[in-house]
Amino acid sequence: MHRLTLAQLAEGLRQRQFSSEELTKHYLDRIKKLDQHYNSYITVTEESALQQARQADKRLAEGGAPLLCGIPIAHKDIFCTEGVRTSCGSRMLDNFISPYNATVVENLINDGAVMLGKTNMDEFAMGSSNETSYYGPVKNPWDTNCVPGGSSGGSAAAVAAMLAVATTATDTGGSIRQPAALCGVSGLKPTYGRVSRWGMIAFASSLDQAGPIARSAEDLAIMLNSMASFDPKDSTSIDRAVPDYHTHLSTSVKGLRIGVPEEYFGEGLNPATATVIQQALKELESMGASLVNIRLPHTPLAVPAYYVIAPAECSANLSRFDGVRYGHRCDNPTDLEDLYKRSRGEGFGDEVKRRILVGTYALSAGYYDAYYRKAQQVRRLIKQDFMEAFESVDVIMGPTSPSPAFAFGAKGDDPVAMYLEDIFTIATNLAGLPGLSIPAGLVDNKPVGLQMIGNYFDEALLLNAAHQFQLQTDWHQRHPSSLEEEA
Ligand code: GLN
Repeated sequence: MHRLTLAQLAEGLRQRQFSSEELTKHYLDRIKKLDQHYNSYITVTEESALQQARQADKRLAEGGAPLLCGIPIAHKDIFCTEGVRTSCGSRMLDNFISPYNATVVENLINDGAVMLGKTNMDEFAMGSSNETSYYGPVKNPWDTNCVPGGSSGGSAAAVAAMLAVATTATDTGGSIRQPAALCGVSGLKPTYGRVSRWGMIAFASSLDQAGPIARSAEDLAIMLNSMASFDPKDSTSIDRAVPDYHTHLSTSVKGLRIGVPEEYFGEGLNPATATVIQQALKELESMGASLVNIRLPHTPLAVPAYYVIAPAECSANLSRFDGVRYGHRCDNPTDLEDLYKRSRGEGFGDEVKRRILVGTYALSAGYYDAYYRKAQQVRRLIKQDFMEAFESVDVIMGPTSPSPAFAFGAKGDDPVAMYLEDIFTIATNLAGLPGLSIPAGLVDNKPVGLQMIGNYFDEALLLNAAHQFQLQTDWHQRHPSSLEEEA
């Protein structure tokens, strides 16, 4: 059952081939048996999952239930879930039971999806390897000596190891697309404002965006249908009709103009990864698309601009964790200052502290113009690059990440090497554009992701192109060999 896609499972539930309760039990058993190898879950909500599954079965029996009804999914532990611990991968929130649901969670509940639990992540979504979680690293199901990518490593690994049908995730600088690429699954970061950020713990508010991770573009479309909505509770949510992404998948790519940016194939890109991506582009060309060489000249400035803006915004967002209102509080504080200092000192890990320090510095009087304002100006130039490119192409494609999954500790001592992991994904967030990653090949038996970047609100076009590619290729149907043999 776990080999079936969301679309196939939805059909099976309608045909009464199995019930949601059976399906949910099957997934819970797999998590019990296998997740010790991957550590993709922080919390498993067995009892409520079975309860939700029984409710879904009733709704399915009545007929007319949404496609997601009865489908076992999991949420990144950054989304608030009522009555369930929401840790954000941090000791700071280890004791935090959310009193309400994030809008994304609420939307999926309304459609009858069953929550299996909460997935592991880099602390406060800061990282590209899932090595910064308070709950320990997540392991890549393709090679457990390697990282799954981050920060949504748990959400990507859970889908790759078939421990959830699909998952929710968030992407501030690449955290949906990069782990999806490294784990051989499909992931979509929507346009900024397409999906509500309400109830999603804030990292860098002008960049954060939620999206799905799943086994195929079709499954992503079904998930996005539910996740996307206008939400008056999020002031940056956009009041624009949500198309039915699932019914927009059948257009041929004939005539699609694909922009191939020179800057995404230069120095730093692993040669074997480049070959895989070139082959994927040739495949799309043979399907009728045309390849157009383009330039995105400000690409080299994306990582430095991001590492001013994201820490600046995180230093403001994370000031709320003060040991007073909720979250970790130190023992026996002597006074208020001691309470702040020790609660934050004990509650946050090294990477979070590093970012708060950088961000506080960048925002301090006298430095604001030199750093934050400058970075915002660079951000505008990056956006302009994309807008100029989209005058002559429909979609931009290239690698999602510079190389396949790397070994644990490989970039541990060098934050800058780690930051370069996101060199191809970060510009998209700075511009607020949608981006998607799908499996396009293997290098040393490790997955490589093809990235597609669209114009604002072109999610349907991206999903359609990705689906058409997946109709012609089977990379998205490959599984890690350790799971291939298992019954
Ligand atoms: N890896 C990037 C960072 O560490 C992006 C993280 C994200 O998208 N949440 O900030």
